Order: sequence, then structure tokens, then C-alpha cells
Amino acid sequence: MTARRTALFTRGVSNAKTRKGLKLADVDTLILHLAPANAAGLGTVCASATPECIKLCLNTAGRGGIMAKGQTTNAILEARKRRTRAYFADPAAFVDRLSAEIDRATRRGRPFVVRVNGTSDLPKVALELASRHPDVTFYDYTKHARPWERQRANYTLVFSRTESNEAACFEALAHGVNVAVVFDTKRGEALPATYYGVPVVDGDITDLRYLDPRGVVVGLRAKGRARTVRSGFVVRVADLPPNVCPPARASCRRMNLMDAGRAA
Ligand code: SF4
Repeated sequence: MTARRTALFTRGVSNAKTRKGLKLADVDTLILHLAPANAAGLGTVCASATPECIKLCLNTAGRGGIMAKGQTTNAILEARKRRTRAYFADPAAFVDRLSAEIDRATRRGRPFVVRVNGTSDLPKVALELASRHPDVTFYDYTKHARPWERQRANYTLVFSRTESNEAACFEALAHGVNVAVVFDTKRGEALPATYYGVPVVDGDITDLRYLDPRGVVVGLRAKGRARTVRSGFVVRVADLPPNVCPPARASCRRMNLMDAGRAA
């Protein structure tokens, strides 16, 4: 008898954030968690990662961050490394396995959506799956530049702000791609209403980013290690300037944030 392989996708019910989607919209999320950046030691799965995002990655938020005393890893992190090794060993076979899991979920008949890059940033994998499954909704966060070129009718991208890509964030907004910003707002407290004049929606209510209106900042509260360290990756609300203009750059003159997202 052949042993059944463990699924690569994790179901939304087992993840605090995607569980909210199940509750709010009765839609399950199939989410893929790999070992981020070069955590598996085989090469990066996040080519646009920054030093701060690697340090504060959600990989160690929630159950992924719970270690037995004296340990530096746990079963969740090791499973992510195993999946990452499978990806690097044979990327095409890996995509086929993911695709077969999406087929199985489709046959089950319950509504679901797919997030390929839970803790990675692999546009080719996501785009291939989105094109093989045009009737399935996909969404992702990304740090790769020019995200608007990779959006599809069934694939919504949110561009993630880091400590060093502020100008690219406003460029993404101007092209109709929402931007995720991590604030130092505490759990249970309200996020700022705007970020440099752009309306902020609460991204912690649900992870279903394709439901957000266009032309907004998706505000996230710092989680995991990001809650306790000072980093340019996390925006300090108290430091936000009172005026509504983003930090001045030459590109300002070419972009009109009043129209951000509305043309898309
Ligand atoms: S790009 Fe995203 S998944 Fe990769 S290390 Fe940075 S925060 Fe983590």
C-alpha cells in the first residue's frame, strides 16, 4: 500500500487569520506556507525580501513561533522546510501537486480561495496556478515591484510596504494595486483612518484581500516579533506627519493620489 502524501496546502481552519474568512464569508482558504527567504538553506523563495521583513516575517507568528524550551524550531517550521525542499527539488512537479489539490478542493464543492504565497513570494507559481484554474479566486501579498503587471481577473495582489520601498508603494496605488502597511497599533485599537491621505481599511478583520475596495491601504497591526522591536518596517502612528502628502520625491509630480486605484 502506498502512503498518502501530506497535503502541501494548509486549510484556512487551521490558521487564525484565514479562519476569519471562513467565519465572515463562509469561504475556506487553501494557503501554502514555505520556509521564507532562505530559511530552508536552498536559495530564496522571496527574492525581494528586505533585512527587516526577514527578521520580522510572520513565519514565526502564531503557532510557528511556539518553541519548546531550548529549541529553535518546531514541527510547523520543519514542515515548511520540507515543502520548500520539495519545491526546489522539482518546481514543476510541485506546481502539479498544488494544482491537483486545487482540483480535489473543487470536487469537494465547498467555496474556497487560494493564497499561494503565505510565507513566500513566488509569482511564477501563483500565476501558473491561477491560469490553470481560471474559475478559482487567488490572492497574495507581494514585495516584488510592478505588481499591477501580474494581476489577473482571478488573481488579486496587494503590495507590501517595507522599510525601503515607500516610493514603490505610491506607484502601486497609482496603478490600482492596494498596499499593505504594518502599523504599531495595538490589538483591539483602531488603525489610523488614512496613510498620507490614502484611506486605510482594517486588514486584520479578514485575510480575503480580493474583497477590499481599490485604492486603499490595507492596515495591519504588528504581530509576532514586530510587536516588540523598533523597525522601519513597522510604521509608528505617532510619527505620521499631520499633512497628507507622502514623503516628497520627484515621482510626486507624475502621480495624482486623488485618482489612485480609481482608474483600474
Ligand atoms: S517577503 Fe514576506 S514571506 Fe518573505 S521573508 Fe519577507 S515578510 Fe517573510
